[in-house]
Amino acid sequence: MDTPEPLIDAHVHVFCWGENPREGFLSARTRRAWLTRLLLRRSGVHKEEGKTISERFRSRLLRQVNQSQLDKVVVLAQDGVYRDDGSRDDSATHFYVSNDYVLDLAGRSHKILPGCSINPIRRDALAELQRVCEAGCRLVKIHTAIQGVDPALARFDAFYRRAADLGVVLMFHTGYEHSCTVRSQSFADPARLARPLGHGGAVIAAHCGTCAWFDPEDHFPSFLRMMRRHENLYGDTAIMASLIRFRSLWRLAREESGIVSRILHGSDYPFPPARLPFVLRTGPFPPERRNGLDMDLRIKRSFGFGPRYACRLMDLLCTF
Ligand SMILES: [Zn+2]
Repeated sequence: MDTPEPLIDAHVHVFCWGENPREGFLSARTRRAWLTRLLLRRSGVHKEEGKTISERFRSRLLRQVNQSQLDKVVVLAQDGVYRDDGSRDDSATHFYVSNDYVLDLAGRSHKILPGCSINPIRRDALAELQRVCEAGCRLVKIHTAIQGVDPALARFDAFYRRAADLGVVLMFHTGYEHSCTVRSQSFADPARLARPLGHGGAVIAAHCGTCAWFDPEDHFPSFLRMMRRHENLYGDTAIMASLIRFRSLWRLAREESGIVSRILHGSDYPFPPARLPFVLRTGPFPPERRNGLDMDLRIKRSFGFGPRYACRLMDLLCTF
């Protein structure tokens, strides 16, 4: 009998509270925000093992990943905001997780793959790309809206070319961002990804350009146009089972097979999926409800993105 293909979640976050800012931090403003406090309370993180909040976040992540039916998860770092001269601007950075922190996490569980984050504005962006690649990282995230990166700028060509040469997949945040202070929402339009796509490497549009029902724009049609134009573009389903975007899963599932076959599973853990809109698909008390990673996978698999939906990312990380 063939061994089943590994199930992989492309989009998992870890947070650092800031006890050791070199590892990562949330700004005072982010720590005070209602969404952060709600997430802290709902996650039950205070009951986890650890002396600091960051240690408890980490314990919870490791425990839930190890208990999950998933075989691998990509845990994402989050680079800071940089000035035009390429130096990091900590006063403008509200959410930071260092690359070394996720590289260290990957050493603590065989299920964790490091998803480093490099703001291409930084002075040493190429050297950092080389360094994390040598440390085993095959996916690098750029948060367009929070990190203030317009992916369409020609000054990033050398970075994109090097990523394509190294076989490092680039993930860009697309769609409106709601969980953290942003530099510009306009950078999150998938139409701006033509430049990195032109270098030929695999590019993932996180969240498929979807926005919440109350946002002034919807970047999903732009994501579909880009998918039809570029065969090396993929989309992940992170946050799409949340209450403010739940309709987006139905919209995406209606698209043609050429698009659906390049949709990758991503949860956006620790943001929990909403259960109510999907109750007819999962039943009221699915066994997966005890683990946010498993529950998110259960919901999204019910939309018929194909039998390889939760395995596809492995192809990109191994062979692209
Ligand atoms: Zn995310």
